Amino acid sequence: MRVASVRAVWIACAMGCTAAADTDVDATEPAPADSGVADSGVAGSGVADSGVADSVPLDTTPGDSPDEGRPALEVTPPKRTSFLVVSRTAGYRHTCIEAGQDALIALGTAEGVAMDLHPDADRLDQSALSPHAGIVLLSTTGDFLDGEEQASLVEFIESGGRLLAVHAAADAEYDWPQYRALIGAAFARHPATQPAEIVVATDHPATAGLPTRFTRTDEWYDFQALPDASGDRVVLLRVDEATYEGGGMGALHPVAWVHSAGDGRVFYTAMGHTAASYEANGGADDYFLEHMRLGLRWLLAP
Ligand SMILES: [Zn+2]
Repeated sequence: MRVASVRAVWIACAMGCTAAADTDVDATEPAPADSGVADSGVAGSGVADSGVADSVPLDTTPGDSPDEGRPALEVTPPKRTSFLVVSRTAGYRHTCIEAGQDALIALGTAEGVAMDLHPDADRLDQSALSPHAGIVLLSTTGDFLDGEEQASLVEFIESGGRLLAVHAAADAEYDWPQYRALIGAAFARHPATQPAEIVVATDHPATAGLPTRFTRTDEWYDFQALPDASGDRVVLLRVDEATYEGGGMGALHPVAWVHSAGDGRVFYTAMGHTAASYEANGGADDYFLEHMRLGLRWLLAP
């Protein structure tokens, strides 16, 4: 009976106080002023840790009664699942970043993941990364990390962190080989933003449910080389160069891929240049948001 009582209390708390109760460089566009990013981290619904038995000390002494004073109930708060959203840039800054942050927060809320916006000026070191399950690099153009931050990012991913890298995350850190290995390819050039047809390249959890071919408008990146095919990298989506002007990579033009890095996982999508990409509007752009949702789910899957 005592156990049932304690468990009931824990469940009540879990339901009521789970969450945080507690360089071409896109030369076609001018570089707008760097807009500071306020930390508006949203406490998501959190994912409850199942370790009830481990975290609740049970006094089984016979005869214990409420009159004698019950021992304080110690409950380990449910583990909070969160991603750190980094949008720091060095050089060109995409005007869609704010729309992207809003979309990620909404997506995280729907998926039970808090998306905490990282203030650009804050250090991105181990202490900043370690509370999170993963990190989003949202169009982080240029050399946006210093040496200590670079080492912290690699250690974080390879020790099991998740990386969701978007668009100009491939237009960054050109002189840092480990970053290139993490992202998978380096941006080279792009033609004018225009519609094109996307083709699903493979059956994968991160493409499940997408149409096999769909059209949307974006900035179609050419890369300096195809993503390294060694290891377990899988190309998820390609863009059909016959459906737009200026493509330079041929029939195997990759747009999104996944791979593992140490104990971590990486999802990269080259799409996401336009603000409309992040704004659910009932049209073809919504496939981009679904693409991001599937990527996030894959990153979080056991
Ligand atoms: Zn762009």
